[in-house]
Amino acid sequence: MIGTEPKRFEDVQRVLNEYSRLIVVGCGGCAAVCHTGGEPEVEAMADKLAGIGKEVLATPVPERTCYIQHLRKSLGDIRSQLAASQALLILGCGGAVQTVRQFTEECDLVKPVVSGLNSVGHMDTLVPDTLWMERCSSCGDCMLNETGGICPITLCAKGLVNGSCGGTRDDGTCEADPEKDCAWELIYERLKALGQLNNLRRIRAPKNWGTMGRPRRILRDPEAAELGKQLT
Ligand code: SF4
Ligand code: SF4
Repeated sequence: MIGTEPKRFEDVQRVLNEYSRLIVVGCGGCAAVCHTGGEPEVEAMADKLAGIGKEVLATPVPERTCYIQHLRKSLGDIRSQLAASQALLILGCGGAVQTVRQFTEECDLVKPVVSGLNSVGHMDTLVPDTLWMERCSSCGDCMLNETGGICPITLCAKGLVNGSCGGTRDDGTCEADPEKDCAWELIYERLKALGQLNNLRRIRAPKNWGTMGRPRRILRDPEAAELGKQLT
């Protein structure tokens, strides 16, 4: 999922300064899991905005705000409020904000879409409701099959594909950050337990970072190539 954290309310307030009629859009997907944009957080934000004199016309929480098909259903039900609003505040990831923008454009509405959250990466839930962690950087060429299911691109401070760097501390922590375990130490121990230490004898070619060129796209239907070029 995409990890998110709330922006400071003062910063959101400043961006919304000139708008008085608002819609607050949450997200029932990642932002709900992160407790940043689910129904409780959207209602709390609506109360806060009301407290500074804003009128909140609707508080939809689509099932997934980054899915245009979910927005067509959820926001499609409140078109009159959308038309009456002056801006939309989105409690979702950066992708959700832009998918809401896409939806407003589909509706021929020119409305500011304001981000209420900061996106902080692809996160996994380690402890439900408490701790999330980035364990994959979406590099586009996954090497987990060679590293026992531990990602050095994300967990090694240097992103080494052939480790370790030689600086691992005696207690197994990283030379760059004593608070973190050396990723390659973890990989070594994991491969040892799996009986796959031979994986470490292979020298991997330098990472092709071209697979991370942005924006990346996934196109399942070649017929839609032209449409894909038009959409941002
Ligand atoms: S190698 Fe790491 S960053 Fe790349 S796809 Fe696999 S888990 Fe993600
Ligand atoms: S000590 Fe380990 S995690 Fe830290 S930079 Fe070196 S190989 Fe990477």
